[in-house]
Formats: sequence, C-alpha cells, structure tokens
Amino acid sequence: MRVGVLALQGAFREHIEALRRLGAETVEVRLPEQLEGLDGLIIPGGESTAIGKLAVKYGLQQAIRQFAATGNPVYGSCAGMILLSNDVGRDQPLLDLMDVKVERNAFGRQLDSFETELVVPALGEERFPAIFIRAPKIESVGEGVEVLAKLEDGTPVAARQGNMLVTAFHPELSGDLRFHKYFLAMVNKPRVISGE
Ligand code: GLN
Repeated sequence: MRVGVLALQGAFREHIEALRRLGAETVEVRLPEQLEGLDGLIIPGGESTAIGKLAVKYGLQQAIRQFAATGNPVYGSCAGMILLSNDVGRDQPLLDLMDVKVERNAFGRQLDSFETELVVPALGEERFPAIFIRAPKIESVGEGVEVLAKLEDGTPVAARQGNMLVTAFHPELSGDLRFHKYFLAMVNKPRVISGE
C-alpha cells in the first residue's frame, strides 16, 4: 500500500510517521505526478488558505479531484477537512469533494486548542484522544455523509462520505493510530468509481 501525504504546508511529517508505524509506504506529494501509483492521500492540518492556494498553483487541485474520482480514498484532518468540504462561507480555494459545510476557527479564543476524549463507535469502545488546534466545526452535512463522532453538544467532528474521510482534530498528534488504521482499511478496499 502506498499512501501520499500532501506536503505543501502544515503537519505532514506527523502523518507520514503514523502511516509508517502502521507499515504503509509513504510519499510526500508536492506535484501532480507524485499522485501516480498511490492508493490513498492524506491532506494534513495547517493553514487551509495557504494549502489551497499552493494546490491551485501547482495543479494539484484538479489532480486531487481526479485522484478521488477514480475511487481513491482521501483523508483530511483539520485544515485538510476544510479543503475537502464544499462550503466554508467565504472565498478560498477548496477541493469540493465532500458535502459538508464547515466554519473555520470555530471554537473561539478560550477553546483555541483543547483535547477531549471522543466516543467513536467505528473505532471500538475505547474513547479516542482528540486534539483540536484552531479547529473548524462541521456546521451541516449532506445526505450521503455519515457522522463518525460528535462533541457532547452534538457538533459533528469526524465524518465519512464514500471514499472521503475528515476529522476536525489531529489524530497524528495523539499517538493513537486507530484513525490512520481506519483510513488504511478504506485504502485496502476494492474501488468504487463515482458515477457508476
Ligand atoms: N485554522 C486553520 C484553518 O482555518 C486550521 C487549523 C489546523 O489545521 N490545525 O485553516
């Protein structure tokens, strides 16, 4: 299994480390041709405006859309989730691959960064240590979107739609590899090509 991590800006090294610990071969992706031969892609946290602009500049916006359209799984954490969404309520480049509306930096100053133990039924009974850093909120999800975890107030913070996976938090920083494992299981599945 070869999994790429978009390495334009942000916390890509930590994702590479997590994938390696699970035995996956990893590739840092900075150019469209580096997507060739990959079975999945992670878009890390960082600054979604910066990552989005660089992705447009290097032709990666279109290339990642095509990569996803052929059924390859893509996982976005934090800024990566913002990029996969189709609506952030302002004008910035998005990949528009998932029917979720998000709000950037949605937790306000007091809660700028925080950690909480999430119930994630898809990962088993043990709670997941979720680290939020200037995190976005999922405001609403479309019909085909499955919410995988919520905060106690009901705010969705992890979701899946077909071959797309998003978390508002940073599993690559917690040392708990279950989200990466979950993603690798998606990567291992036979492909379903969208539109067929
Ligand atoms: N605040 C960042 C943004 O809006 C996301 C933060 C992160 O990825 N840790 O792009």
